This record gives sequence, C-alpha cells and structure tokens, in this order.
Amino acid sequence: MKRIGVLTSGGDSPGMNAAIRAVVRKAIYHDVEIFGVYYGYAGLISGQIEKLEIGSVGDIIHRGGTMLYTARCEEFKTIEGQKKAIEQLNKFGIEGLVVIGGDGSFQGAKKLTEHGFPCVGVPGTIDNDIPGTDFTIGFDTALNTIIEAIDKIRDTATSHERTYVIEVMGRDAGDLALWAGLADGAETILIPEENYEMDDVIARLKRGHARGKKHSIIIVAEGVGSGIDIGKEIQEQTKLETRVTVLGHIQRGGSPTAADRVLASRLGAKAVELLLEGQAGKMVGIESNELVSHDIDDALAKKHAVDQRMYQLSKELSI
Ligand code: ADP
Repeated sequence: MKRIGVLTSGGDSPGMNAAIRAVVRKAIYHDVEIFGVYYGYAGLISGQIEKLEIGSVGDIIHRGGTMLYTARCEEFKTIEGQKKAIEQLNKFGIEGLVVIGGDGSFQGAKKLTEHGFPCVGVPGTIDNDIPGTDFTIGFDTALNTIIEAIDKIRDTATSHERTYVIEVMGRDAGDLALWAGLADGAETILIPEENYEMDDVIARLKRGHARGKKHSIIIVAEGVGSGIDIGKEIQEQTKLETRVTVLGHIQRGGSPTAADRVLASRLGAKAVELLLEGQAGKMVGIESNELVSHDIDDALAKKHAVDQRMYQLSKELSI
C-alpha cells in the first residue's frame, strides 16, 4: 500500500486531531503517502481530498474538534453513494482508509470494505459506547469537562442548600454519567441501561436531607429522559429547592486530556499498521492497556454494556 486516506465522521470528540496526527506521521514514517478527506463521507463523495504532509498536522495535538471537519451524510448510506466514494478514492490512487468516528461511521467503513475497499476504524466518540475497546477517544476529556462543571455547581449547591439535577450526554450509553457520578460523589446516577424507581430517588434525597446534607447532586444521562422534567418531579415530591443544569455541547469541546492524546496517538498509529499489514474491516481498540483489533462486524454486532461492578460501586458509595 503506497497511498492511504484518513477521515473523521459523525459526532466530533476531543482527541480526533491527535489521532489524525498519528495516522499522518505514522504513514509518512513508513514512506506511505497520506491524504486527508474533509467533511467525512460527504467529502469522500464530493472529492474534498488533499495530500497531507508532516507539517499539515503540526500544532494540532492539543486542539479539540477535528481539522478535517466532520459531517453526517445520508447519501453515503446508499450503494450509489458508496460507489461514488470509491470512485473518488480510486481517482486519487488511495488504497486504504482510516475512519475515525463512532459506531455509525464504523458502519460506513464496513460497507466500503464489503465493496472491496480496505478500511480500519478508530473509535472516536465521547460516549465510550463502542464494543471492542475499554475507552474511546474523547471520553476522558468529556468526563473531565463534566467534573469541572459539577465541582462549580457543587459550590453553589452547598451555599444555597439546593438539590441539583445535572443532565449529561449519553443517548444510549450511561458511561459518562456513571463515571462522572463516581468521580463527583453524586447521590444518584440515572443511566439508560438501568431501570430506576422515582420513589427510590426521592427516598435517598429525603434520607440525605434528614441526616443534614447540605446539597444533593443527581446525574442524569440524556437517554433517561429530560433532566428538567426529572428536576420538576423531585421538587414537587421532596419540596426541596431543585435546580437543573443541562451541560450540552460544552462536553464535546476543549483541549484533549493527556489520556486522550496518548490513546489517540496509539490507536491512530495502530490503524495504519493494520492497513499496511493488509488487514481490512477491522477496528482498533484498547483492552487492559493493550492495543487490540477486532472485526468491525463483531464489534457492531455486540451491544455496549456498562460495567456492572462500577454501577454497583456507585450505589454502595452513595448511601
Ligand atoms: P457516529 O459515527 O458518531 O456514530 P453517525 O451515526 O451520525 O455518527 O454516523 C456518521 C455517518 O456514517 C453517517 O452520516 C453516514 O454517512 C455513515 N453511516 C452511518 N450508518 C451507516 C450505514 N448503515 N451504512 C453506511 N454509512 C453509514
């Protein structure tokens, strides 16, 4: 393989730039030409493709977002769209592609591989919801952004003796809520993977209040429902002053943490290695601090699950 491409697709996450940098530098290290595809699969179809050099990825390791931009592209879900993408890749003489993104982007990589075009996926999403890797690029940064916000909210919550409901990202995956809840000692953590009873939430709050707690923090993953509605119900039932904060898109931005930069560098380089070994239809990941690869098919067939031991621990520590 003498020419490979790289793109970022779907939701952006901090550390994608560090992954792009690793892909570019690793390819050049092996005397392979590297092409950046702008705007994900949309740019692949329209041919927004450019050769990258060592200097193209200078000064980006610490920046959030993605220098290649990202997009969602419905046309790419069709066979015609996928064929157009392959025509563009052929036009540029590109023989393999690194796709940095979430599970949707991996579906796209799988389709291209099925059409005979070798792809390797690098897991980049703040949700940490991709089977086959312990961590995804961006999760640690998003988690730290949440913690910083909750610490600030905690100060004002204590001063005013308030109950705070904090809604964090995670439509289908509760990892951000669970880890943030553990890291910040939340009273209650509501995640989409686990059922909950409002009566339990209320009982916990009342119990805490009765033993003199100055504030309570409840973390809700967006997939559970609206934090605002949950906050209203809590206030009605407990008569405790309750405020709601929806953290929103600040969770996607910011300079990546050291952990995310290192993870992105390792995974990006590993993806290039796989392509150069002639492997295709794989995703790279990290398990027990070892770099691994899996068939994208297998990874996508599994459902992400939260770590039950962590969930149990969060309950035991928030009595
Ligand atoms: P993420 O990668 O963050 O999960 P999306 O689910 O939005 O984000 O997927 C990103 C893009 O990947 C989509 O806009 C589309 O172009 C492509 N994609 C998603 N699912 C498929 C699919 N089943 N087949 C082909 N391409 C897909």
